[in-house]
This record gives sequence, structure tokens and C-alpha cells, in this order.
Amino acid sequence: SSWFRSIEPAPKDPILGVTEAFLADQSPNKVNVGVGAYRDDNGKPVVLECVREAERRIAGGQFMEYLPIGGSIKMVEESLKLAYGENSDFIKDKRIAAVQALSGTGACRLFAAFQQRFHPNSRIYIPVPTWVNHHNIWRDAGVPMKTFRYYHPESKGLDFAGLMDDMKNAPDGSFFLLHACAHNPTGVDPSEEQWREISSMIKAKGHFPFLDMAYQGFASGDPERDVKAIRIFLEDGHLIGLAQSYAKNMGLYGQRVGCLSVLCEDEKQAVIVKSQLQLIARPMYSNPPLHGALIVSTVLGDPELKKLWLNEVKVMADRIIGMRTTLRENLEKRNSPLPWQHITNQIGMFCYSGLTPEQVDVMTNKFHIYMTRNGRISMAGLNTGNVGYVADAIHEVTK
Ligand code: PMP
Repeated sequence: SSWFRSIEPAPKDPILGVTEAFLADQSPNKVNVGVGAYRDDNGKPVVLECVREAERRIAGGQFMEYLPIGGSIKMVEESLKLAYGENSDFIKDKRIAAVQALSGTGACRLFAAFQQRFHPNSRIYIPVPTWVNHHNIWRDAGVPMKTFRYYHPESKGLDFAGLMDDMKNAPDGSFFLLHACAHNPTGVDPSEEQWREISSMIKAKGHFPFLDMAYQGFASGDPERDVKAIRIFLEDGHLIGLAQSYAKNMGLYGQRVGCLSVLCEDEKQAVIVKSQLQLIARPMYSNPPLHGALIVSTVLGDPELKKLWLNEVKVMADRIIGMRTTLRENLEKRNSPLPWQHITNQIGMFCYSGLTPEQVDVMTNKFHIYMTRNGRISMAGLNTGNVGYVADAIHEVTK
């Protein structure tokens, strides 16, 4: 008999499992607000015009050679400019160790492996709640996790006092995972003033901030605005780790293109850190994929295409922001007894609705609306055609 016969089936992924169930449903009314993937107002996935144009320019003009272990130099350079600033001294001084990563997930995982290898007794503090895959990533990398307070269920906003308290009480020099903008799943971000206080606390305690930025541009519609938390950390003189993803903001989900960077004390250290990141990447996947990196470097490297991209990111963000208003208005129109301001206060891809797991079950079983049991609604799955239906269902299960 096989050596693997006693293995138990793995639990379904709570997010991707929702899509599977949605696809199997035959109802004409079905709605998928589970996975965080952008849809236009007709419910269709979008290929950005800037990406189509980049693909036209790339087509046939490139060899399919391997990239270096650290990926496309040009793509990485453009990514650093977006995050650290066009004229950043850190870039000029070559203080940033950066490699192309397999989208945001791969960037997080590479960092987690780096943390485990060079700071083996450290832990990472993650917010409650956080993107479920953060748990898997640091667990599989062998880094123990602790949590810090983040979301406040009563106010459906930030538990700022709890967060500051937990940062203060963590042992000096702890690692903290922060979502740079558009916190997933809650849609709740600290204000600029609160970011400043968080940054000061992290400084005072000698903590290390790791920033996961999966939605730059998707929150406000402007990548420069969405990066403000990072710029505050930079101004305050932190060394940081940073994961960037082009899945959402360039619609490159399946291309798996992203960047991991670590801001170091000097150029010499950055060279060393980069060499070690490459040593971790080499036995895992050898080198990252080429096509997505070419698309990103073509778009961001050409002023005209970059401008087009900025417009298109704004269109996506604005549609989501508009849907927040429409959903809230629809609920208020139905004389819902509950307050719904949080729908418009929250930001980014998701609305953390406050629906209980049991209410979500009714949403799914009775109304064919598919979402994760934590009550998270992917706003991008809503459109003028289905938002009334979804509001009806929410009203029915909460009234
Ligand atoms: N971090 C967070 C917080 C996310 O929401 C996501 C996307 N769901 C990611 C990272 C990474 O996604 P990807 O690997 O597709 O870039």
C-alpha cells in the first residue's frame, strides 16, 4: 500500500473554496463577492488598456530567456520608484535590497523565509483579523505568530488604543506585519495621524515593520496617496520590509508579478541581503516568470503608458467607491434598522459588513450570494445590475 494512504484531505481554502461553490451553482441570480478580483460594471474581468498596449509592444520582440534569480532589474527599479518615491535618496544611495517576487504572496513568503533564516528566534505580530494566507505563509516558513488588536467590531473601525497597547507591550525588536493600505479583510486603515503615532511607537520599541502593499492605487485611486504610510515610515528613519503586488492595481492576477524589498543601513548591507534573498529563491523556483515583469516594466517605464495606467487605476477605484455609496443608500432606502456608514468609511477592495457566519450561510443558501463566512464582501463583485439584489438579501438577513 502507498506510503501516503493515511494522509487526511486538506481543508478547503476559505476564499478560493467560495469561488468553487459559486461556479457549481446553477441559479441565474448568483453573485460572487468572495474572491478579491476586480470586475467591471457588467461583472466581467478587465484587461487594462495599458497592459494590452504593453503586450502589443512586447509581442515577438523578446527572447524567452531566463530572468536572473532576482528577476527583472527594470521591473524592480520601477517598483521601488512607486513605493519609495521617484527621487528617493534610498534608491540613489542603493540602500534597498530588492528582488522580483511571485506576486504579493511570493514576496511575503520570501521575506518570511529570510526572517526565519536570519532571525530564527523571532516571531511576527499580525493584525486581528488579517488576510488568511498571512497565517499560512508565516506558519509554513516556520515563524511563530502572535497577534495584535486591529479591528473594533462595535465601531466597525480601528481599535487604535488596542493596537498601540499591543505594540507597546510586545518585546522590543518584534516584527509587525502591517497592511500599507486597504486592509484586507476589513477595509479599515489608520488615519495619517494614527500612522504617525504607530510609526513613533514602532521606533520607540525598536520593532521591525513589514509592510504588505497589495493594493497601491486601489484604495484612493492614486498610487501616490496610497503609499503615504510607507513614506511616513521612511521619513521616520525606519528600516522596513515591503511586499508589492501588481495583481490588483494592474489586473495582472495570474501573471504573478510583484517585488520584495528590504531597506538596509547602507549599500554594502543591501548587496549582502539581496544575495541571501536570491539564495532562498534559487532552490524554491530558480527564477521568477518573465512575461508579467515585461508588462510592468513596459507600462511603468513609458510616460504615456504610465499615465494611461494611472487613469485606469482611478477608474477601477472610483467604481468601487461608487458601489459603496450605492450599497449603503440601497440599505438605508429599505429602512434597515442598522447603521451602514462603515460601508462608505471602509476603503479598498472589501467591505467588512458585520454579517455573522450564520447570516452569511443564509445569504448563500437562500440568495445564492457567495462570500466568506467572516462577512467580507468583495465590493468589486457588485455592479449596477446586482447591487439592489444584494442589498435586499442583506436587509432580509439582518432585519
Ligand atoms: N496581501 C494581501 C493583504 C492581499 O489581500 C493579497 C491579495 N489577496 C496579497 C497579499 C497577495 O496577492 P497576490 O499574491 O495575488 O499578489
